[in-house]
Amino acid sequence: MKLLLSLYIFVAVILTQFFAAYFFSKGKNSYRKAFSAFILCVGIYLFGYLMIINSSNLQELIFWNQIQYLGLPFISVLWLTVALLYTKTIYTLSRQMTFVLFFVPAITFLMRLTNSWHHLFYTNWEAKQFFGFYSLHMERGYWYYINISYTILCLFLTIIIYYLGYRKKRSDFTRPQFMVFFFASLLPLIGIILIIFTYSKWIIDFAALIMPISILIIGYGIFKYDFLEIKAFARETIFENSLDGMMIFESGLRLIDYNKAAKDFFAALNISLGNYPIENLFNQEPELLEIFKSETTKEFSVMIEGEKRFFEVSTLPLGIHHDKKTRMFKSIRDITEKKKFQEKLITLATTDFLSGLYNREEFLNLAQRELSWANRHNQNLSLLMIDIDHFKNINDTFGHGAGDEVIREMGNMIMTGFRKTDFAGRLGGEEFAVLLKDSSLDEAKGVANKFKEAVSRTKVIYEKQEISFTVSIGVAATGCSINNRNNIKDVLKQADDALYKAKAKGRNCVATVE
Ligand code: GH3
Ligand code: MG
Ligand code: MG
Repeated sequence: MKLLLSLYIFVAVILTQFFAAYFFSKGKNSYRKAFSAFILCVGIYLFGYLMIINSSNLQELIFWNQIQYLGLPFISVLWLTVALLYTKTIYTLSRQMTFVLFFVPAITFLMRLTNSWHHLFYTNWEAKQFFGFYSLHMERGYWYYINISYTILCLFLTIIIYYLGYRKKRSDFTRPQFMVFFFASLLPLIGIILIIFTYSKWIIDFAALIMPISILIIGYGIFKYDFLEIKAFARETIFENSLDGMMIFESGLRLIDYNKAAKDFFAALNISLGNYPIENLFNQEPELLEIFKSETTKEFSVMIEGEKRFFEVSTLPLGIHHDKKTRMFKSIRDITEKKKFQEKLITLATTDFLSGLYNREEFLNLAQRELSWANRHNQNLSLLMIDIDHFKNINDTFGHGAGDEVIREMGNMIMTGFRKTDFAGRLGGEEFAVLLKDSSLDEAKGVANKFKEAVSRTKVIYEKQEISFTVSIGVAATGCSINNRNNIKDVLKQADDALYKAKAKGRNCVATVE
């Protein structure tokens, strides 16, 4: 009998050590840590019991009972902690909660350790024999009852939590595990109740006898349903290692979980994340607060290490019913590369690569917009059409490469030769247009003449050859008679006519149609 019982407990101890090591190695997640601690405490307790039934005198019994109490007081509260974390009733164990939960077990541990001084835990003990093996019979002190009540309370709460979890998760994949845990928690509770009512008669530790069965049930759950399952593990790994920042807010937008990328993102903005409401996180950044509070996808840019970076925040409600209690999942994606690529595409689509000015289409778009604005605000604007004289000769004399170089130089001169508010485009070949905002025909003529002079003084060096060239400029202004001053093409036509006049006048000059 004694041998059988010893063997039974021994196997259970081995099992607990195996599970403790297994979960510790899978560690990281908070409920896994709590689970390893729980099963380790069970192991210590059972090992103590194994030694107790094999002891032969009171001294040894007391010693091994003391060893049992290294683990025993913490078993039920750790079991409750696992339940709270595993069912996601809570997400992390805060310091205050740890204190509240572990207060009674810690005092129990100390009480048992120092019992010989105060006898508040056990008032008296004696060794009794039962079926040929010893057991320690103790008369219980006050604290024993506090401890056992707390143990029952923890187990009772655990059972309720798993039951509610089971009821709630109708279609979830974690449902069968909850049932396994429910039964695994029910058994020790029965064991403890049996101890309370029968110990004086039977002197046997039912909890110790039942605990291995509990562990076997859990073992069954682990291997059958892959408790702490790959799915959850995979999800968690993805969450933790995602390059996107991920944050989970509970109702009221209090942050309850976040991954490393989110932590890094906020660290770069000097914001440290914690279990705070969203307002506290962004108390220095009202604009970011609005963005992060919004439930629609938002883009924003921030300076990180002197570089402007772009981000996109998206929100996903977690839960079926969208109400105030819904948890929110927010992801932060770095879209800087995408933005840069988009900007590059836009630049490519709107810029003339040779001169660096706008291409014809973009120039006409912008000019039309500017014209409409100027008309609405009763402002005049002018348009210069600039054409390089005898450009064909440059190509013929110096080669096509030289012609390109001249176009490039023209682009530079136009970009630097006008006000910042003016803008220009290459309309084709060696023909350019400049839009001068808020300027009359006379002012535009003055500007055009200056530019024409500057060009005639410029020399382009191409393969050690000096190339001089001149331009003719046609000027039109909305303040003068134009067919339809609302359409940029009409303004352009007038400038073109003026340019034709300038060419006819002998080139290297400025002309208007009037
Ligand atoms: P005008 O004084 O009357 O304007 O005479 P022009 O020779 O400048 O005018 P024309 O329209 O007869 O010739 C323009 C030339 O510009 C013809 C074309 O081969 C050349 N051209 C057009 N685009 C480019 C370019 O991108 N690079 C170079 N190198 N040449 C170009
Ligand atoms: Mg020309
Ligand atoms: Mg031309």
